[in-house]
Amino acid sequence: MIINLPTSENMTKLALRLHFGAWAALTTMEFQFDQEFESSEENDWASERAEYYEYCQPELQAICTIIQQSNELALKARLCQVSPYLLLLNSDAKFSTKGDDIDFTTFRTIDAVDLPAAINSFCDDKLTDKFLQTYGQIRAYRNQITHMGETKKAFSPRELLHHLVAQYRELWPQRHWLQDRVEFAAQTTTAFFHDGRYASAESVVMEEWEHTFDVLTGTEFKALFGKPKTTRRYYCLDCVEAASTKAFHAPDTECRTAFLLPGGTSLHCFMCGKDSNVVREDCPAGCPGNVMSSAGETGQCHTCLQ
Ligand SMILES: [Zn+2]
Ligand SMILES: [Zn+2]
Repeated sequence: MIINLPTSENMTKLALRLHFGAWAALTTMEFQFDQEFESSEENDWASERAEYYEYCQPELQAICTIIQQSNELALKARLCQVSPYLLLLNSDAKFSTKGDDIDFTTFRTIDAVDLPAAINSFCDDKLTDKFLQTYGQIRAYRNQITHMGETKKAFSPRELLHHLVAQYRELWPQRHWLQDRVEFAAQTTTAFFHDGRYASAESVVMEEWEHTFDVLTGTEFKALFGKPKTTRRYYCLDCVEAASTKAFHAPDTECRTAFLLPGGTSLHCFMCGKDSNVVREDCPAGCPGNVMSSAGETGQCHTCLQ
């Protein structure tokens, strides 16, 4: 018998962990520059930024290999969902007539280059031509980096961030991006120290939200959250509370993560996935908002948090 069969679920989890690890690393890379060189209308520090990215190439190349690893795992997870034995395609696995247990982890599995054809032959959801093209490109870079120590391709964090969004949209269309971002921010090495008092996964994600909002194009935003980027957004009181720590004051951020649902009497938060009822009254604190929490006697304003 073959023992220790892999599961699609575990592969997906690791693929997403790598995916969001890459996201966090790229975001931090851009943050660090912006902290040192504050952009203004007079100066966007273009040449300094180019110099910084050139300096960052080894890290960017390492991130490219992680993206490829995440791609491969996500595709293997799809195949594994049909049958884990499909992972042994073209791998020349050796079996024995003795019938002893064989550990699956000792088998060589399908090559990355063969994955797309296997998926499009055995799985219901086919990979798009656009994805196949970028998958092939990223795989080629990964091979150059792994086998020769580098690629001549010069990466920028922004380019790879957009690549990650495209990857997410293709590979996990049923999942919820911001909910996953929180879930996987809670699975980093630093998350080991999240105590809810000084740090939490929600605070990490809210802290980077303004940057995320800036990164996402209108098309990407609509694809990830189902609403145009220009739609008015409101604070989710639960998420603000979960993100508020001694080191992070969520109300100081523009981290509004909820949309009004049709009818205008409830909000849906795309960070925690919850709906909450609201009452439509002008904000007593005088902000232009008129969406008040229906919880508690006085109600809290979803626009200014007063
Ligand atoms: Zn929420
Ligand atoms: Zn208000």
